[in-house]
Amino acid sequence: MTLHYKQISPELAGHFRLVMADVDGTLTDEHGSPNEAANEAVRLLEECGISVGFVSGRHLSNLEALAKQLSISGPIIAENGGVAKLTPDDNTLDLGYSRQPALDALDRLKKLFPGAIREREDNVERFIDVVFFADGVAHADVIQHLGNVQYYDSGYVLHLMERGISKGRTLLRLLNEMGYKQISPTETVVIGDSPTDISLFELFPHSIMIPNPRLTDEQSRAVLKVARYVSDIPCGDGFAEVARHIAAAHGC
Ligand SMILES: [Mg+2]
Repeated sequence: MTLHYKQISPELAGHFRLVMADVDGTLTDEHGSPNEAANEAVRLLEECGISVGFVSGRHLSNLEALAKQLSISGPIIAENGGVAKLTPDDNTLDLGYSRQPALDALDRLKKLFPGAIREREDNVERFIDVVFFADGVAHADVIQHLGNVQYYDSGYVLHLMERGISKGRTLLRLLNEMGYKQISPTETVVIGDSPTDISLFELFPHSIMIPNPRLTDEQSRAVLKVARYVSDIPCGDGFAEVARHIAAAHGC
């Protein structure tokens, strides 16, 4: 059952050492524009000694700029788990993932739906994930032709990626295989708003859903089903409330 985030007891929240936040719809407003309350809350967590990291569908250089602006100390996971760094100042990790299956699937879709498949501008900045729009093409028609590639609708854009890559799996690898600051999954909170965060919510016991009015009812239900906790306030303002609740348990 999903609980209200205020049911995270001070004792439990006091054990949290790492907050991994999705960006769009979680730290921003519903349109992806910055939310000052969320930015302040990120700074508050860091001041309290809780590391904040990003786990997002955005590409790496975009997240690096945001990491610098907000002075976060935690990991950066970009491209829905495809690309990662242990801290903003580290080198990019070699996770062994390939972009080729997603590029092949994109080519197939372009041939099948001429003129309807548009790569988003930032696709050239990406190493693993492919982002595109499929104008007037139903999801079911896209899915039929993907082959062995996973397909996400983040609510902002469509994503193609080699199967087996996810935000949750990459974060687990950073903590378990790479021993990030000896922080365990149970000392980590994952916070997100959309179906691209489901892998995080499934793999980490302390997960918080931030509602996003852009999601369809079906998408919202799918995310809510796997989230342990939920905020009643949407997007960046919701994140700020949750972060203040966690910070208060740390005496901030
Ligand atoms: Mg999001």
